[in-house]
Amino acid sequence: MFNNIDKQIIKKIKEFKNIVIARHIGPDPDAIASQIALRDIIKLNFEDKNVYAIGIGVSKFKYIGTMDKIPEDIVKSESLLIILDVPEFSRVDGATKDEYAYTIKIDHHPCDHPECDLDLIDDTACSTCEILCDVIFNNDLVINKVSAENLFTGIVSDSDRFLLSYTTPRTFNIASRLLDIYNIDLTKIYNDLYARPLSERKFESFIIDNINITENGFGYIKLTNEDYKKYDVDANTASNMVNDLNHINELRCWAFSSYDEKTKQFRINIRSRGVVINDVAQLHNGGGHKFASGARLNTEEEVDALFKALDERCKESR
Ligand code: AMP
Repeated sequence: MFNNIDKQIIKKIKEFKNIVIARHIGPDPDAIASQIALRDIIKLNFEDKNVYAIGIGVSKFKYIGTMDKIPEDIVKSESLLIILDVPEFSRVDGATKDEYAYTIKIDHHPCDHPECDLDLIDDTACSTCEILCDVIFNNDLVINKVSAENLFTGIVSDSDRFLLSYTTPRTFNIASRLLDIYNIDLTKIYNDLYARPLSERKFESFIIDNINITENGFGYIKLTNEDYKKYDVDANTASNMVNDLNHINELRCWAFSSYDEKTKQFRINIRSRGVVINDVAQLHNGGGHKFASGARLNTEEEVDALFKALDERCKESR
């Protein structure tokens, strides 16, 4: 499995005393859970290592674990960097390739070029946590209940509760193994992931009421600061909701544009049922998976151009 790249990763982990683990900007539960689980599992199995999970913390995901600060005396140019759940350095939060002695990527996003010194890419996996589980099981690494729960959280979240097409027998085998061996607390995991304030549910109804749907089955909505204020939610809330529009008959592809006051950018979330969208996103300052992509854009004209291209893609793929 993995053409022995996983063995080479373990060898590199053994070689370095200091290890930094990073992931993508705007992290989701798979990004954070894979990062925290890998950090804790390396510490558990190789006690002499200093391991740091870096990047901006997200209060909503604090239950998964908290981020570290790299101490000043750690020399990055003598350290190992592992990036998770991110195809390219341009989207890594808090680390660049040339700062570190050696770099490793573990990811499930498609990528057609080498990014690190060692890349473990499996775009058939539903999540980065799924790949990590295989690396852990293949190499007989010890894990504890907390890490098992984090890995399960990443798998459940990125597969959208085993709903998306990336869910395979392998996904269920891994989930079953985690459940079986570590006796993980499903109720807590689902509560942490899915409990929402009523205001968010009302915001979701607002989106459903106001989404525009073209004759080609493309749904789009531009969310404004006034909308967020009215429903007492923030710009990230829409991103967490985009999967919830799956399985609406009239929608084959749908996209949200959310204006973020902090970055002064439009964050675009795109999903589809069967219409390939990641190549369209790539042409518009974005990327992602075949049926789940995103982009960051600077102007409303760019948003309109992307939405037009997605509508065209829906038309072509009828
Ligand atoms: P999201 O809608 O934010 O959950 O993102 C869906 C997918 O698109 C994720 O796999 C992201 O890695 C990818 N993605 C989101 N934004 C960008 C971007 N600006 N550039 C490249 N890929 C992105």
